[in-house]
Amino acid sequence: MFDKILMANRGEIAARVFDTARAMGVRTVAVYSDADRAARHVAMADEAVHIGGPVPADSYLRGDVIIQTALDTGAQAIHPGYGFLSENPDFVEAVEAAGLTFIGPSADAIRAMGLKDAAKALMETAGVPVVPGYHGADQDDDLLADEAAKIGYPVLIKAVAGGGGKGMRLVEGAKDFVEALASARGEAKTAFGNDAVLIEKYIQMPRHIELQVFGDGTRAVHLFERDCSLQRRHQKVIEEAPAPGMTDAMRAAMGDAAVRAAEAIGYKGAGTVEFIVDGSDGLRPDGFWFMEMNTRLQVEHPVTEAITGVDLVEWQLRVASGEALPKCQEELSITGHAFEARLYAEDVPKGFLPATGTLTHLKFPDGARADTGVRADDEISPHYDPMISKLITHGPTRAVALRKLATALGECEVAGTVTNLAFLGALAQHESFARGDVDTGLIARHLDDLVQAPEVTAEAAAMAAMAGLGVLDAVASETGFALWAPVTRQVKMVREDQEMIAQVSSLTAKACDVVVLGQTVEARRVDGAWQLNGRKAPSVAIAGQTVTVFEHYGVSFDIVDPLQREATGGAAAGVIEAPMPGVVKALNAKPGITVAKGDRLAVLEAMKMEHSLLAERDGVVAEVLVAEGDQVAAGAALVRLEDQEDAAT
Ligand code: ADP
Ligand code: ADP
Ligand code: MG
Repeated sequence: MFDKILMANRGEIAARVFDTARAMGVRTVAVYSDADRAARHVAMADEAVHIGGPVPADSYLRGDVIIQTALDTGAQAIHPGYGFLSENPDFVEAVEAAGLTFIGPSADAIRAMGLKDAAKALMETAGVPVVPGYHGADQDDDLLADEAAKIGYPVLIKAVAGGGGKGMRLVEGAKDFVEALASARGEAKTAFGNDAVLIEKYIQMPRHIELQVFGDGTRAVHLFERDCSLQRRHQKVIEEAPAPGMTDAMRAAMGDAAVRAAEAIGYKGAGTVEFIVDGSDGLRPDGFWFMEMNTRLQVEHPVTEAITGVDLVEWQLRVASGEALPKCQEELSITGHAFEARLYAEDVPKGFLPATGTLTHLKFPDGARADTGVRADDEISPHYDPMISKLITHGPTRAVALRKLATALGECEVAGTVTNLAFLGALAQHESFARGDVDTGLIARHLDDLVQAPEVTAEAAAMAAMAGLGVLDAVASETGFALWAPVTRQVKMVREDQEMIAQVSSLTAKACDVVVLGQTVEARRVDGAWQLNGRKAPSVAIAGQTVTVFEHYGVSFDIVDPLQREATGGAAAGVIEAPMPGVVKALNAKPGITVAKGDRLAVLEAMKMEHSLLAERDGVVAEVLVAEGDQVAAGAALVRLEDQEDAAT
């Protein structure tokens, strides 16, 4: 086994590999870009080396720098993760030329599967069924149009160098072919620097079912299938294992084909053979065709780990270090069912736009495995894939595992950026999905239902208003309680450009009534926990003026600073009041001292921010009514100035 490995990647996959390396006693080296100085994967590694700027071309794609870093730190092997250099055969050769081990397949195996056209040709000769279509070298427009007509519409145009759904176009009829071809080529040229395409029969009611394979360079086994049919624009959203409706005959046929594919190229390490399946009439052993092979560990590998009990990264390290395959086919079996949802920072109502932001609050639920590259206070930067986490659940049956997924999504707490949580939650509760009626068109067909933003409830708004007033943090048993007098406060909030006002009345440290959005919400603190209208209140996260209430996957409100409106309250009488509940951080006022208008008398910390309380007029401090560290209520008198008449005498 290796003593030390280097991870040529970032984010959740780097963290994932470090977890297993640590468990195996293997030391780890992280590399990082400027944008990742404080990233989780850097903190997890035994050593971390800065390799360049935030743009991948300046850091995570610099094979030469990464290899030199491995040599300098004494790492014996390099794990590529996925994306970046993971399927780059030139990199593999450079790693080996430097006397290091690449944790993955040979350069030749990657090359054989690198282009979809060559891979299909190779698979045909290996006896693996491939999608009917044209994958020749001649790229003449008329010839391609003729081939499309021969295959029969609808057809799919694919970039031979494609990946991530790029350079792919569905063409319904001959009249759309020329235009679709031009746009597929354009996208392929930009994304891959290669505009060659192939044409495939478009499979009706397509399901994406892929086989996890593992090879030792000669022999291979498969670790069953994953169904990745829940896709949006050819990108996976939720994956599961095993596939709903899978039969023993179909699994055996697909497993054989996948192992044949892997052995045909002398595959070593973890890989995935992707098949497209005709789901229009149940699963049939003659209804699946090879699409492509991904010669790396896949994003969705955890669902396979969950049902097989195998740690695929452990297998990767063991096989790369020269061990035989840890298990033979007969020793592998399926236990239960697993799901994975990809949680992203993205604005779903705005067309799934990638989002950025600082994760001011982040809490993953118990009952799910969270594979993540970020922690609270980390940033989702614009430089990389905006994935926050993968959430994986496992259960004895599909129904239980799906229930657990829905629950876990509902309990996930993310503040500081918009996320696709509500979308994933709606999917996890969708009835077609629950029935196992999955195909790659499911999301598109139900998109309107799935992306609907929930109505903001009065309870959520009330909770935000109370957080804004600092009521939630006030502790009844502290000294400040004596200062609580039932008072009425108004809180102005903004939610997605919609302004709302909450009227908080009968306010004490233990109760209040909130009138907001035309409803009255009774808030009571029972045994230290808040209840709204008799039900457990949702939790909240406060960051600056933003309050996120964790109801319906997180609803955020911006509080309009009450200080701005209330700072003058009580000033005429010479009494400086707390504009909101908080803790007295500092007291500059002392009895007898003379102050000028604008002098800072006290500092109050509320909503995690410090607010200076200033003298509204010149005068002499008559009385200081609190001490530093005191918790005070909204409206509490803090400092009294001598009356202007008193001062004159
Ligand atoms: P899968 O999602 O099935 O593992 P994909 O081919 O869609 O396979 O992409 C795998 C992962 O590789 C993506 O999730 C993405 O994070 C990463 N990736 C894809 N293309 C790039 C790229 N050009 N640069 C960096 N990472 C990429
Ligand atoms: P990529 O390299 O971008 O991952 P794939 O060839 O794996 O490209 O295809 C991505 C997705 O496109 C599949 O998961 C499937 O949803 C859809 N797809 C691909 N080929 C076909 C086909 N022949 N018929 C129907 N859908 C297809
Ligand atoms: Mg694919």
